[in-house]
Amino acid sequence: MKGARKLYVKSFGCQMNVYDSQRMADTLAPEGYVETATAEDADLIVLNTCHIREKAAEKVYSELGRLRRLKEAAAADGRSLLVAVAGCVAQAEGDEIVRRAPAVDLVVGSQNYHRLPDLVAHAARGGRVVDTDFALDDKFDHLAAPSRAATRARGVTAFVTVQEGCDKFCAFCVVPYTRGAESSRPAEKIVTEVERLADAGVREVTLIGQNVNAYHGVGANGRPWRLARLLERLAGMPGIERLRYTTSHPLDMDDDLVAAHRDLPALMPQLHLPVQSGSDRVLAAMNRRHSRADYLDVVARLREARPDLALTSDFIVGFPGETENDFAATLTLVEEVGYAGAFSFKYSPRPGTPGADMSRQLQEAEKSDRLRRLQRVIDQEQAKFSRACVGRTLSVLFERPGRHRGQIVGRSPYLQPVQIQAPPSLIGEIADVTITEVASNSLFGALASSLSSPCKGEVGERGEPGGGLTPPRTAVGGLTLPLPGREKIAGAGA
Ligand code: SAM
Ligand code: SF4
Repeated sequence: MKGARKLYVKSFGCQMNVYDSQRMADTLAPEGYVETATAEDADLIVLNTCHIREKAAEKVYSELGRLRRLKEAAAADGRSLLVAVAGCVAQAEGDEIVRRAPAVDLVVGSQNYHRLPDLVAHAARGGRVVDTDFALDDKFDHLAAPSRAATRARGVTAFVTVQEGCDKFCAFCVVPYTRGAESSRPAEKIVTEVERLADAGVREVTLIGQNVNAYHGVGANGRPWRLARLLERLAGMPGIERLRYTTSHPLDMDDDLVAAHRDLPALMPQLHLPVQSGSDRVLAAMNRRHSRADYLDVVARLREARPDLALTSDFIVGFPGETENDFAATLTLVEEVGYAGAFSFKYSPRPGTPGADMSRQLQEAEKSDRLRRLQRVIDQEQAKFSRACVGRTLSVLFERPGRHRGQIVGRSPYLQPVQIQAPPSLIGEIADVTITEVASNSLFGALASSLSSPCKGEVGERGEPGGGLTPPRTAVGGLTLPLPGREKIAGAGA
């Protein structure tokens, strides 16, 4: 390893970017780059960007303005600081970034991260680089695997990209343009990656892809495996107790995948299944290629297979031409499905997508009004779902210490945060928790085996009446899913 330099990676947007950011850090580690938590002491800063909505892209430019000042301060101290832009803004805007943001030394598209060591070396010699070609070689063959120590430091849950790109071309979406055509990683490479994660102590793996259930990678037998087959293979792996996958398209929910929810105990009873709108007219204009009835049929098949399945979704309000009647259909769909939570966004016209050129674009005020009304209904459904957990005993995988002394936080099978008073030695373990209270959609409870005593004593020390089960005021809010923007579920769309 070469002399240590500090790397600061900031991820915007979805969980695919979180995964890519980790792979970039792993690939730069042999070059001597060690991750730091602050931009101020970094030698190299990578912004891993999101282009999905206009606000997401604009956030990157305002961050670059701040980095310009940081770069000037570093130069005044006699230090050099390199700034790189990666991800979907890099892919979509390429040279334009270098033109608009003089602080940027290097722009790298999402298919080219394996070239980062060479690109950084070039930039360090004073050349500005833009590399946004869709590489012919598979980046996954060249990206370094994380060390065991790096994996352990990242915790007991992990994302694994199994599929990238999308061929669906929804009329609002930039993904097919920024991430390219759909492609799936070979199953055996995914199996090897998950084995390494399990060996380093990871207990829960979420398979990710822009359209993850379109997965069709080459299987061990040389024939294509669909997602259900891959999940079945991983479900038997020692150490891996929990599996999830995201994000899915309703059309790709095949019978085998539905059956996997019935047959694989490791597959958690929670699914993010975006629908976008409850109106057939809008779904057609969006080129979603499914109707409201098709979606409800998929939901019914899934619930037959796994009756306690918690469903979450994405919604867009104010797509061009959406009438009050169309919007009302979205509201009734939310109630009909009974979601455990949902992301909701105002439609944001993205240059180059068909939606941006459609007539009858809605006014911002109208979109904001519909978003508020939709979120009210989503919040009610989510609260109903959370309240129904009170009194139940749920298995929880503990992930990290809580914000309060003596508290640890984990996830229920339905991906809700669960907070209890218990020793940190339980982190990494799965234990039964009896849920006693819900606040801001976080669940609070106590270990089922120790409900009768210890937790209360510890909480008494914080002086809170009612013992350990009183939710702290600063409780982690919302059912945070590993989803775009990490916005609060039902949070304001960009
Ligand atoms: N592949 C997923 C699917 O089939 O729905 C979604 C991927 S996209 C990265 C995440 C979410 O961002 C979408 O489900 C949609 O709700 C939202 N989104 C995408 N483009 C948008 C736009 N132009 N305006 C507002 N929201 C958008
Ligand atoms: Fe975008 Fe998802 Fe539609 Fe693909 S399926 S175009 S990623 S919204």
